[in-house]
Amino acid sequence: MGASGTLLTMLMCKAMNRSLANVLFAGVGAGPVAAAATARGGPAKAVREISAEDAGVLLSNIRSLIIIPGYGMAVAQAQHVCRELADMLSKVGVDVKYAVHPVAGRMPGHMNVLLAEANVPYEQLFDLEQINPEFERCDVALVVGANDVVNPAARYDKASPIYGMPILDADKAQHIIIIKRSMKPGFAGIDNELYYNPKTMMFFGDAKGALQKLVESLKAAAA
Ligand code: NDP
Repeated sequence: MGASGTLLTMLMCKAMNRSLANVLFAGVGAGPVAAAATARGGPAKAVREISAEDAGVLLSNIRSLIIIPGYGMAVAQAQHVCRELADMLSKVGVDVKYAVHPVAGRMPGHMNVLLAEANVPYEQLFDLEQINPEFERCDVALVVGANDVVNPAARYDKASPIYGMPILDADKAQHIIIIKRSMKPGFAGIDNELYYNPKTMMFFGDAKGALQKLVESLKAAAA
C-alpha cells in the first residue's frame, strides 16, 4: 500500500510537472489570486452567462460533447446526474466522451474513481493524450467543476504556478460551457482566461444542481 502510494504520488508530480513540495504547498497562501477571486463580481473582465434553458437548447443540437470533470464535481457529488445527462445525449446519437486529466481533483485517479461510482462506460473515458486532438472537432466542451486543468496559461505563462502542466484543450472546442459556482480560482489560486474566451458560456451554480437543471431543460427541449 505504502509503495503504491509513493509511486502514485511520484506519477502525479510528473503529470503536473512540479516538485513534491510544490504539489503539497502551492495552494497555501498563494498571492496574486485574490484580486481575481472576489466573486461572482471578481475581475472587471466580462464573462458570458448561459441559462439552463439555453444550454439545454444548445445541447439538444450538437453531435459531439466532451465532459471535463474536476474537483467541483467531486465536491458536489454530481457524477450520477452527469452520467444521466450523458446517457440522454448518447441515446439521441451524440458522441459523448469524458476527458480525464491525471491530476483533476485532489488525489491521483480521483476522477476515475468518481466516474466509476456512477458506472460511466469505460469506452467513454479518455486520458489527456487521447482526448486533446478531439477538441477541435468537438461541438461542446462541458467543464464541470474543473479549473486549473483547463487553464491555457499553463502553456505559455512562465510566471504561472501551473506553467508546464499539460492541460486539457477545452479552449479548442467550438463552444465551452463551464459549470462552477463563482469566479473563484481553483487549487493553484489563479484566474483562468478560459472564462473570458468569446466561445465560453458560464453556467453558475453547484455542479449537481446545475446538471439537474440541464437534464430538465433537455427534457423540455425534447418535448
Ligand atoms: P481546481 O481546484 O482547479 O478547481 C475546482 C473548481 O471547482 C473551483 O474553481 C471551484 O469553483 C469549483 N467548485 C468547487 N465546488 C463546486 C461545486 N459544488 N459545484 C461546482 N463547482 C465547484 O480543480 P481541477 O480538478 O481543475 O484541478 C485540480 C487541482 O488540484 C490542480 O491544480 C492540481 O495540481 C491540484 N492537485 C491535484 C492533486 C491530485 O492528485 N489530483 C493533488 C494535489 C493538488 P467555485 O468555487 O467557483 O465553484
